[in-house]
Amino acid sequence: PNSPFGADIMTGVEASGMTDYRNGNRTVTLRNSKRDWEVQARLVVAADGVESRVGRWAGLQTHASPHDMETSAQVTVSGVDVDPHRFSLYYTSEFAPEGYSWVFPKRNRTANVGLGISGDCTSSKRPTGYLDDFLGRYYPGAAVVSRTIGGIPCTGGLDKTVADGVMVAGDAAHMANPITGGGIVNALIAGKCAGETAADTFHNCESKTVERNLIRYSKRCEDRFGKMNRRCYRIKEAILNFKDADFNAIAAEIIKLPVSKRTPIRVLSAA
Ligand SMILES: Cc1cc2nc3c(=O)[nH]c(=O)nc-3n(C[C@H](O)[C@H](O)[C@H](O)COP(=O)(O)OP(=O)(O)OC[C@H]3O[C@@H](n4cnc5c(N)ncnc54)[C@H](O)[C@@H]3O)c2cc1C
Repeated sequence: PNSPFGADIMTGVEASGMTDYRNGNRTVTLRNSKRDWEVQARLVVAADGVESRVGRWAGLQTHASPHDMETSAQVTVSGVDVDPHRFSLYYTSEFAPEGYSWVFPKRNRTANVGLGISGDCTSSKRPTGYLDDFLGRYYPGAAVVSRTIGGIPCTGGLDKTVADGVMVAGDAAHMANPITGGGIVNALIAGKCAGETAADTFHNCESKTVERNLIRYSKRCEDRFGKMNRRCYRIKEAILNFKDADFNAIAAEIIKLPVSKRTPIRVLSAA
């Protein structure tokens, strides 16, 4: 093992295939630039991101429809005047139809500026086009340091996140918050839940890694964020119908609240 906790960490390695569950194992084919090889695994955690192939190899439906795929573009810009203690969200169909734009300040006059829009809204203009317009309007002199683009599945969660010998985690299991598209924290929590479930299962040497024994993983995720994500999905579907005037009216209500009372629940109540 090359980590203090007994794990072998391999970089530059792709999982290129996985067999059905046989004799309590999955056989995973790995490859790097030089060779292919196989490993036997009692348990595989599919944390391979959007449109998870590993999940699909296990027979799970990991595809998201364009409607639920938040297509996002972000740049890190330098030389911008941003308040380092404030992050800004812009809800307007001009720059982010069925989504929102954000400005997250970083150190030394740099910021992450990005947006996510529903895949339904990308036919006339791509997210990068909307982002260029946004930058042109608000940060015309900014120097772009780096760019990130990608899709975030915002379905509220896969119906099924386990199969024999497999647990699916993070974007692979559509665990991002459907309203914000934020998926980092839930992906980390899911990783922890997967580790705990694996430890429970292996602790009992007789216990097989069959699907019914892994349901505990789904339950753990459900309790930590799954129920909330499904509620947020229903709210997201309602928000999609809002016009800019509705957002302005909501903002006017929120601004009346003292800062200390502007909690997510109150903001959503205003909506
Ligand atoms: C532009 C943009 C901005 C975002 N901003 C935020 C934000 O501010 N806050 C937030 O919380 N979330 C944000 N998100 C969402 C967030 O990035 C994801 O929810 C999060 O990264 C999910 O983590 P993950 O580990 O599940 O998947 P990923 O981060 O996608 O990681 C999956 C990894 O698996 C690897 N992989 C895939 N297939 C294989 C294979 N077959 N073999 C080996 N490796 C494989 C990939 O290379 C990748 O490294 C943003 C997303 C985008 C696109």
